[in-house]
Amino acid sequence: MSEFGASSVEITDVTRAFDGQRVLGPISLSISSSSFHCLLGPSGCGKTTLLRIMAGLDTPDTGTVVIGGTDHSRTAAHRRPTNLVFQSGALFPHLSVADNIAFGLKTDRRTAKSEIRSRVSEILDLVAMGEYAGRSPATLSGGQRQRVAIARALVRRPDVLLLDEPLSALDLALQLRMRRELRRWQQETGTTFVCVTHNQAEAMEIADEIAVMNAGVVEQSGSARELYEQPASRFVAGFIGENNVFENLTTVDGGQTADGLLFPWPQQSLTVTESLAVRPEAIRLLPASDPAALGTARVLTTSFTGKSVRVALNTSTGREVLAELPPGGVGVSAGDQVGIGFEPGA
Ligand code: ATP
Repeated sequence: MSEFGASSVEITDVTRAFDGQRVLGPISLSISSSSFHCLLGPSGCGKTTLLRIMAGLDTPDTGTVVIGGTDHSRTAAHRRPTNLVFQSGALFPHLSVADNIAFGLKTDRRTAKSEIRSRVSEILDLVAMGEYAGRSPATLSGGQRQRVAIARALVRRPDVLLLDEPLSALDLALQLRMRRELRRWQQETGTTFVCVTHNQAEAMEIADEIAVMNAGVVEQSGSARELYEQPASRFVAGFIGENNVFENLTTVDGGQTADGLLFPWPQQSLTVTESLAVRPEAIRLLPASDPAALGTARVLTTSFTGKSVRVALNTSTGREVLAELPPGGVGVSAGDQVGIGFEPGA
């Protein structure tokens, strides 16, 4: 692929308030050049506001946005080396697919006609839409329209492509396919992609780095593995990988207790002071009387997902715990009394 751009983004102490109410910050975040970065968090945490600030569609009250080493905090949107793809990916209905993609290049007036043609055809190939070049947007599926919207942004060769929930309007099967496509387009162009999502599975699948946001701030930024294996806060632990988070641990002989379960730490080598996150797949079910059980629980529901069986349990104190077990031979059903154990080595 030829001459696609890429830049780092350095956000420092950015804040933003609406009507006197702070919705963002202070936020500081480093996004590496040529990386795929996701802003992940629940609805209303400020992801879109932060993306709009990077795009120049909104201005921070304080702080700076440096893109590729240049301070763009006050640069107008159309003068920034960024391009934003909206959730709906709105296309011009009266223009063909190819003309929609060429539109931004034509308004630039700096690009020669032959160059426009070759860039449009290259980008149509990238998003596998070559055979639809002459079609009107009304005749495309939702997924095809979204491909065109992304192609239209990429063809301008931004250093940073900003995507606001680009897959959320698509059905699940298409989302799963488009995740891999997005990842491939990022890798083939080498452009920096910054993608807003509330879907943790999506972020974990596509991103090199994920910034987990909550209530206007970044709680933790890191690779999917880092967030999963070393969540820095209770919020991150609960948001990534559906961890069972235990708090109010009481130290007793042989370990610590919480919610009717005993966590038997070897030789008291470990004491958890704040909260303990237990991954669903680290939990195993044992007979209720098994001495190795951390405690007993009642099975609430079981569901087969294909790759696993998910079992929701209620501990003796009424605390709900989620277990994710290998799909073969789980052999429990709702109402059963079981023991909760740990996967050895977990
Ligand atoms: P969602 O996933 O639901 O879009 P989000 O994480 O992207 O959520 P934002 O859209 O950034 O969140 O909104 C963050 C907060 O700022 C919300 O409480 C929202 O109501 C508020 N907000 C955003 N834009 C404005 C505005 N122009 N005027 C007033 N309040 C706003």
